[in-house]
Amino acid sequence: MYNIIIIGGGIGGSAAVLRAAQNGMQALWVLGSKKTRKRSRSHWVKNLDNIVGFHEDIIKSQAIKTLKKYKQEEAITFLENEHYHINNRILIKNTIQRIEMGFPNVKIMEGEVTYLKKTDFGFSVRIGDENIEGNSVVLSTGVMDKQPHILKQNKKGEWEETPKWIYPFANREQVLYCIRCEGHLTKNDSVAVLGHSNRRKQDLQGY
Ligand SMILES: Cc1cc2nc3c(=O)[nH]c(=O)nc-3n(C[C@H](O)[C@H](O)[C@H](O)COP(=O)(O)OP(=O)(O)OC[C@H]3O[C@@H](n4cnc5c(N)ncnc54)[C@H](O)[C@@H]3O)c2cc1C
Repeated sequence: MYNIIIIGGGIGGSAAVLRAAQNGMQALWVLGSKKTRKRSRSHWVKNLDNIVGFHEDIIKSQAIKTLKKYKQEEAITFLENEHYHINNRILIKNTIQRIEMGFPNVKIMEGEVTYLKKTDFGFSVRIGDENIEGNSVVLSTGVMDKQPHILKQNKKGEWEETPKWIYPFANREQVLYCIRCEGHLTKNDSVAVLGHSNRRKQDLQGY
């Protein structure tokens, strides 16, 4: 019986598990499976560029300070010229390491939760063949926007129906696709803005 079961190995789950661990709770963190990861947003973020506090220069400046102290001029030049992508996967990997190193009361497991039921004492969660009990549950399984269907041009200039996911395009900063996820920068390309709305058609007339 856990105090808390946190479902989802993304940014939301990472924040929740850290706080649960720091509060000394007996916690279970369910990361998800290969299948759920592919659907998650964290998986697709290759470069976090708009979160205050997450910038490579923050770490670099601290490292350079140490290198200066020990007069490591050559190493400073190497570091200054290096570029580090800070993506979600690095943050999650780091959270897993922090938990594994400092919080034995937290169990981390891979797997997909397929069933969740309220019980007299809290919740029962099914992962594979196992039913696990917890007093409370944090659902941080993310949300998925509708993936628009788009065409891809191959090297011969022909249009293909192949891409199932728009994320690779978003990562290449060619398509602005989701205002809710801060939008994306575009580099002198023609830009398509794709989206959907619950507004009735007649409300949109004249726009
Ligand atoms: C291309 C792209 C670029 C982005 N860029 C930025 C950016 O620069 N800055 C920024 O702030 N945000 C950015 N975002 C948004 C950011 O990635 C999301 O807001 C964030 O990842 C959401 O975190 P989350 O933990 O809620 O969900 P997710 O990251 O979707 O994680 C969900 C987790 O739940 C797991 N899961 C799902 N179902 C189950 C289940 N049944 N059982 C167990 N586990 C399950 C998945 O495996 C996954 O680990 C971007 C998003 C995209 C797609």
